[in-house]
Amino acid sequence: MTVSTVAPRHGVAQVTALLDLPEVRALIAGLDETRWTGRPGYPVRTMVGVLLAKSVYALPTWTRTLRLLGEHDALRDAVGGVVPSDDATYRFTAKMREHRHLLDAALDAVVRAVKDANPDYGIDVALDGSDMAAYSNGHRTLFKNGPVREKFADADASWGHRSAVGTRKGGGYFGHKLHAMVCTRTELPIAWTTRTAKDAEKNEVEGLFDIAARRGVEPATATLDKGYDAQPIYDLLLARHVRPVIALVGTLRVQRGEHKPPTCQHGTWTFAGADDKRQATQWRCPSRACKPASVWIKYDRLHPPIPHGTDRWKAIYRGRTSVERCFGRLKNDAGLTPLRVRGSDRVSLHTDLTILTTLAAALARARALSVAA
Ligand SMILES: [Zn+2]
Repeated sequence: MTVSTVAPRHGVAQVTALLDLPEVRALIAGLDETRWTGRPGYPVRTMVGVLLAKSVYALPTWTRTLRLLGEHDALRDAVGGVVPSDDATYRFTAKMREHRHLLDAALDAVVRAVKDANPDYGIDVALDGSDMAAYSNGHRTLFKNGPVREKFADADASWGHRSAVGTRKGGGYFGHKLHAMVCTRTELPIAWTTRTAKDAEKNEVEGLFDIAARRGVEPATATLDKGYDAQPIYDLLLARHVRPVIALVGTLRVQRGEHKPPTCQHGTWTFAGADDKRQATQWRCPSRACKPASVWIKYDRLHPPIPHGTDRWKAIYRGRTSVERCFGRLKNDAGLTPLRVRGSDRVSLHTDLTILTTLAAALARARALSVAA
């Protein structure tokens, strides 16, 4: 594991370092060209500084962020010496939503830069979804046995299912879901999307690989839990030359042991490699006495290129927990949750800004380390 053990820098130093990153400066320059007039004249750099400070200090609201800016001289100086008004901040986030392509370009650039700074990033990945409870009451009735609720504060939220994590039980929740591809070596996100809670995780896999490819990341292996165990997921990963490491659901064929290696009177056949050209794995009789002494088995859900049950499969699958640790850090350390915004556009912007800050901080650290080395 090459997770950086360098302690996070002091908040002010971190906000300054983030604003100085070429990728963030390009975002500021792009927004400048859209002629933002934050009456009475707040510079774009100040506004972007406020967005970053909110994530760096894991603050739930703009109001709290602006209050901190008012009280914290060094932080205020770092963003240009002024405290924007609440109103200017809301207008600026509206502008960010209008100009999503600029933020998308910044995220693409930051992911590419993280990859350049750390060749380990993006080779082995894990995918999963994580619950984000809405800033809204989702109950069908206004109170127990009361009238049916006609309007939900967050009209884009829906009821979905969250899986058990650690000691927390799984169950239903009302809100949104973050779907992400995370690097298992660095535990940093690569591609992500937010959807309403009821949307199935399987449907997001292809889109996440498309986003990753746009950012120059083409993973060698992808680890997913049972929720993704379906032939179409294997097919789309194999078509992209990604080796699937997916937990098997105990279907009838699995109960019959069809995923296990072939056997003969000489014992269990041994794995002799995977051939992507043939799209098949090769297996050999342990004594070579059988005729033929080896067979090819076509890739499928039961017979992937990294076979189920092998040490290699198990070692890679252990990396899957990295995606849960990444979600935990985004939620608990970077202020991803609890959500204090409503609607899919705002939830998506909040998520992107939180992850931008996390990735930009990792990038600033990696660059500082390479300068020090
Ligand atoms: Zn044999």
